[in-house]
Amino acid sequence: MTRDKQGKKPLELYIHIPFCEKKCNYCDFLSFRALPQVHREYTDQLCREIRAAGNGLREFQAVTIFIGGGTPSVFDPLLIRKIMETVGESFSLDPEAEATIEVNPGTLLRNKLPVYRSCGINRLSIGLQSADNGELAWLGRIHSFEDFLKTFQYARMEGFSNISVDLMSGIPGQTLDSWKNTLKRTAMLKPEHISAYSLIVEEGTPFGAIYGPEHAGSGQAADMGRGWPPLPDEDAEYKIYAYTRSYLDSQGYGRYEISNYARPGRECRHNIGYWTEVPYLGLGLGASSYVRGCRFSNVRDLDSYMSLDFAAGDGEEALAALHGPVQRLTKEERMEEFMFLGLRMVRGVSELDFAAMFGTKLTSVYGPVLERLKRDGLIRRDGVRIALTEWGMDVSNFVLSEFLL
Ligand code: SF4
Repeated sequence: MTRDKQGKKPLELYIHIPFCEKKCNYCDFLSFRALPQVHREYTDQLCREIRAAGNGLREFQAVTIFIGGGTPSVFDPLLIRKIMETVGESFSLDPEAEATIEVNPGTLLRNKLPVYRSCGINRLSIGLQSADNGELAWLGRIHSFEDFLKTFQYARMEGFSNISVDLMSGIPGQTLDSWKNTLKRTAMLKPEHISAYSLIVEEGTPFGAIYGPEHAGSGQAADMGRGWPPLPDEDAEYKIYAYTRSYLDSQGYGRYEISNYARPGRECRHNIGYWTEVPYLGLGLGASSYVRGCRFSNVRDLDSYMSLDFAAGDGEEALAALHGPVQRLTKEERMEEFMFLGLRMVRGVSELDFAAMFGTKLTSVYGPVLERLKRDGLIRRDGVRIALTEWGMDVSNFVLSEFLL
């Protein structure tokens, strides 16, 4: 792990805002609706947590901040300012830190964006999902494509020069043509970064009840009688996936991870840090962390979170209660993570980094697996790095599972 000039180790901060205006039909994230008063009380408690956590992590310097959710942009922007100020007071911050906030185009952003800029946020991640208003309605999103266009224009006018747009494939009623239209209308705006994830039907969501595994194979939603359109079939999904790669490539977006594309030099530093074992600290309800070789997650119940007393003593007792059981990863688990996360990136993993980190050669741990995957055309090795081939990326779930120890 490299250190800065003051000898501090890099740390990524993730800050969770668990509030949304309305729950989307596919969403199983920790998010819910709450009154503005709750937003304010949560922010106060979050700031107490940030101060207590910063006290105990003096050997680190924050190199990225990612305010995610939920929908951070439902907040009054002054609450976001307060959070950013508290981070600045509580952590040593890299002056060049990448600071991202996730925004929803349905949350009236015009007056919020200048506040974000003025408090040090330099990257926006806009959740669009689709340029088709019918598809957005099936997803239960609160915005239209036109809302997104306005948000994007305001953001540029405000001087944001690093914008990411989130898109979603595999959604009800989507066709290859509608996806092409979504990609085209997005790329025309020239955002610096595009994420294109496939919808995952999660149990316990409205989509789980309509499109869950018990209905798989029928090609029909359970509730077709009420007009829910079917999900794209496997063939359409594959065509969508293959088209995404080639179209975005033709528009100057390099794929740097299974689902992420960027203009040169605009890859998301926060994500790359996560995939390359940079420690990260999750702050706020339910946020996960990986610090000093240990993994832990904050409590997920809002009342329990709000009742913690970070002001008592140096806050250590409250932090221990917040983090719950801490899991120290074994060397084998860390090796698995190194491979799982690193191979998600197109550049793959470095054999030298593996040796430096674990004191043993990558080939002495994974030799037979590497030979087999290379023979099958799923990975490539150039003597320095190991990476998935295009085909390996297509079947990444299978390939990555081969690295379990
Ligand atoms: S806006 Fe995002 S976090 Fe909120 S319900 Fe929709 S998908 Fe979930």
